[in-house]
Amino acid sequence: KLSKRLQLILDQIPQGSRLADIGSDHALLPVAAVECGAAVQAIAGEVNQGPFEAAAKQVKESGMEDCIQVRRGDGLEVLSAGEADVITIAGMGGSLIAAILDRGIGKLEGVRRLVLQPNVGEDILRKWLLAHEWVLIDEFILEEDGKIYEVLVAEPERPGGPVTNEEIYSQRAIAGKVSLSAEWLLRMGPWLIRDAGTVFHDKWKSEIGKMNQILKSLSRSDQDTAKGKAAEIRADIEFIEEVLACLP
Ligand code: SAM
Repeated sequence: KLSKRLQLILDQIPQGSRLADIGSDHALLPVAAVECGAAVQAIAGEVNQGPFEAAAKQVKESGMEDCIQVRRGDGLEVLSAGEADVITIAGMGGSLIAAILDRGIGKLEGVRRLVLQPNVGEDILRKWLLAHEWVLIDEFILEEDGKIYEVLVAEPERPGGPVTNEEIYSQRAIAGKVSLSAEWLLRMGPWLIRDAGTVFHDKWKSEIGKMNQILKSLSRSDQDTAKGKAAEIRADIEFIEEVLACLP
């Protein structure tokens, strides 16, 4: 059975897709995608030997070698342009995912959807998508085994698309009270704020906890740079608390 996290990613793959799962590790996602018809064919990309072998083994055991190819290589270099219409990249940092997309930008031609699950650095990835005309069409947040994950779904910006980045990043006020800058929308997630539930609250309470830890260590220094940094963090905490207080 797939984890809740991988199942949520799988749910974002339209039926009948040609899937590429980059950093596939055990190839659990492509196998499940072919099994349920979300993918008609799939490529599992892996840069490291161990996970590459684990993926190959999994595909062999599932008897799906005809429709899932396991390829060894860095990021999108395992793909030829036009080979995939959905790309999933999950379980890495947002900056690594952004770097993979950046280095392989030519391979994104013809790709209709990206489903990305950064473990950290979600804002870096949202910024990358915005800068490269990928529209963030939806976002999810979930908790599993005490960890919180975010899943970002993006499609190329096109006339007649479901929504535009301009619309997404221009709706700034929460409950007519706090006004969010573009920077904060990128940090918190424009869709996640809209539908903020318990997990969203938990994530930002935990972020405040981490920030308080940093404040504690900064308070041991009396350098001006530390004081400046501490003031910035205190302002961020205050703002996050204000946002949380306005949300349902
Ligand atoms: N995607 C799976 C998931 O979400 O459960 C596995 C995540 S695992 C934590 C990250 C995987 O990405 C590792 O197997 C690692 O070898 C692979 N990886 C890291 N950098 C990569 C790159 N540049 N290209 C391809 N795979 C990469």
